[in-house]
Amino acid sequence: MNHYSCLISKLEKLLDKEDILLNESMKNHTYFKVGGKADILITPKTTEELIASIKICDDEKTLYYIIGNGSNLLVKDGGFRGVIIKLSKLDKITVDEDKIIALGGAKLKDMSGCALKHNLTGFEFACGIPGSVGGAVTMNAGAYDGEMVNVVTEAVVMDKDCNIITLKNEDLELGYRTSAVMKYNYIVLSVTIKLKKADPLKIKARIDELTYRREDKQPLEYPSAGSTFKRPEGHFAGKLIEDSGLKGTVLGGAAVSEKHSGFIINKKDATAKDILDLIELVQKTVSKNFNVDLHPEVRIIGED
Ligand code: FAD
Repeated sequence: MNHYSCLISKLEKLLDKEDILLNESMKNHTYFKVGGKADILITPKTTEELIASIKICDDEKTLYYIIGNGSNLLVKDGGFRGVIIKLSKLDKITVDEDKIIALGGAKLKDMSGCALKHNLTGFEFACGIPGSVGGAVTMNAGAYDGEMVNVVTEAVVMDKDCNIITLKNEDLELGYRTSAVMKYNYIVLSVTIKLKKADPLKIKARIDELTYRREDKQPLEYPSAGSTFKRPEGHFAGKLIEDSGLKGTVLGGAAVSEKHSGFIINKKDATAKDILDLIELVQKTVSKNFNVDLHPEVRIIGED
């Protein structure tokens, strides 16, 4: 930690004590509940604190990585050398008629609840996606009949030189689980979505229906990152995995879910290596059986 002393003392001048964690286990910050320690993890409370923290990392030539809710993230067992910047405290949500404006760390569930409260429809699809709005724009998250691309009007992002830019929907290059944010390593500071007025009873009924479908089909009782693989064109990853006889396959503490073959779960005290080895086994088997390449949707960071 000695080589971080200058960085830490600058962060201590900027942030509250409780917003700087040293040697922090990433198990506490990812839905998979695996991963080694991050040297430093910070949780800025304002956009100004976030920007100043990034400038400090840049000045100290220290690697940093932005996370939202950690629901699509696998941190390797050796942990992360540098600073994890978690945006969960940047979670303000405001409503302006048919628009909802949220800071990057706001939870999709809270935005969806806010939409319901204001009789706004179009965001029901996001009610069960356990991510932040920044993570959702980065991944162009979607479920059932909805996707971020259908509702986002603009996002305020920061580039690697700390320039703040407003990107319109078409500039965000939102495609299947991809975006300009991912391509150019932007940081999502805030997002505006535009919805339509509707009967709140109908909105609530749709939320209840989607929640039921999710609970019925997905192994939500186990830690995971949702669908492990992207959907290969013309196929469903879960079906290819199931048809390869891999349903329920266990490797160390990781397993291919019995309930939904597209999910790799942390069944019992898995390590990141167990999960990565199982990902590889699934990829090799599906490729051999069907000549289809599966690519992880989950983002993988850190050291072995
Ligand atoms: P994180 O996991 O924290 O990060 C994911 C990536 O986004 C990382 O590369 C990170 O650097 C980047 N990132 C996060 N925030 C920002 C930001 N503000 N600026 C720049 N980059 C950022 N996804 C779906 O699309 N549909 C589903 O139906 C779905 N169901 C799921 C169900 C379960 C049980 C789980 C565990 C996951 C599911 N997911 C689903 C995956 C996940 O919830 C989404 O991808 C979500 O959008 C990720 O958001 P996050 O804040 O958790 O991102």
